[in-house]
Amino acid sequence: MQLPREVVVGDKTLDLIGDICKKLDFSGSALVVTGPCTRRIAGQEAIDLLEDKGISVECSVVSSSAMKDVELVKEKIEEFEPEVVIGIGGGTKIDVAKLSSAQKGIPFMSIPTTASHDGIASPLVSIKGLNKPYSVMAQSPMAIILDTSIIIEAPYRFTASGCGDIMAKFTAVRDWKLAHSVKNEYYGEYAASLSLMSAKLVLENAGVIKPESEEGLRVLLEALISCGVAMSIAGSSRPCSGSEHLFSHALDLVAPKPALHGEQCGIGTIMMAYLHKMDWKGIKETLQAIGAPTTAEELDIEPEFIIQALVRACEIRPERYTILERKKMSYDSAKKLAKATEVID
Ligand SMILES: [Zn+2]
Repeated sequence: MQLPREVVVGDKTLDLIGDICKKLDFSGSALVVTGPCTRRIAGQEAIDLLEDKGISVECSVVSSSAMKDVELVKEKIEEFEPEVVIGIGGGTKIDVAKLSSAQKGIPFMSIPTTASHDGIASPLVSIKGLNKPYSVMAQSPMAIILDTSIIIEAPYRFTASGCGDIMAKFTAVRDWKLAHSVKNEYYGEYAASLSLMSAKLVLENAGVIKPESEEGLRVLLEALISCGVAMSIAGSSRPCSGSEHLFSHALDLVAPKPALHGEQCGIGTIMMAYLHKMDWKGIKETLQAIGAPTTAEELDIEPEFIIQALVRACEIRPERYTILERKKMSYDSAKKLAKATEVID
C-alpha cells in the first residue's frame, strides 16, 4: 500500500513547498502541471518558491483531462527528467499530473486549488479517453499541500460539491458490506471505517460548512484526506464509491450538461440511501444545510435524465456489486424512487 508521506493543511501552506520538496529529497528538479487560470492563482507562485530554493522548474500548462494532455506531459517528463511532478489546480490538472507521473514512474505531489472531490488525495484518476466512465488506479500522492487561503477563494459550489462526494461514503460502504455478504467480496474493515468516519465528520459539522468559513473548509479537507487514505489502503475506490457513484457516472453519459461530480454523487446518495432503507432524509437535510443541490432542478438537469441514469447505472461497472444489482431499476421504479426522495417532482 502506498500512502502520502507529507500532508499539510492550513493557511498559506503553499509557502512550505520548497521545504517539503527538499525534505523528500526532490532538491534538483520539478515539473509543475497546472492550468491557464490556476497558474495565475497558485502555479506561478509555486514555481517562484521552488526556484528560490534552487530547484530547477519546468511547467506544463494543460486545459483538459484527456489522454492527449497526459501524453504531452509524459513527453515533457521524458525530455526534462524531473525528480517530481507537481499538479497544481482543480481536479483535471491533478489527474493529468497523477496519471502521467504514475506511467513514467516518477513521484507525484498534489496541490489542489479546489476541494470538489476526493481525487485530490486519492491514488485514482478520471481521464477522458481511458474508455472507462469511472476512476482507475494511478498512484498515491507522495505529498499533499492544502492551502486554505487559496481553496477558500474558489467558488463555494466546489466546496459544497466536495461535501456531496463525502456524503457518498455512507452508501458506498453499505454497498461494499452488501457485496461482502452476498458475493463474498473482500471487505476491509479499516478502510471502510476511515471512509465512514469522514462522512460522519461532515454530517456532524454541517453547520460550520458555509461560504468563507475556514473552519468548515478544514473539516472537508480532513475528510477528503481520510478518504484518499482509505482508497490507498483498500487499493481500489471500493470504500468510497458505490451505487451513488454509478448513478453519477451514468448521469455523465446521459445528461447533455452534467453537473459537478460531487453534486451528482450527493443526490445519488439520497436515492441509494432510500433503497438501502437508511436515513435518506438526514442525508438530504445535511446536504441542504451545507448548500449542496438535492434536486434535479438545482442540478439544472431534466428529470428525464435522472430517471435514465438510474436505469443505466448498473451497466457502468458490472463487476461492482451494489444495491442496484439487487433492486434492478426499471423505468417506472426509477421514476418512483426519484419522486419518493423528491429529487424530481
Ligand atoms: Zn467521488
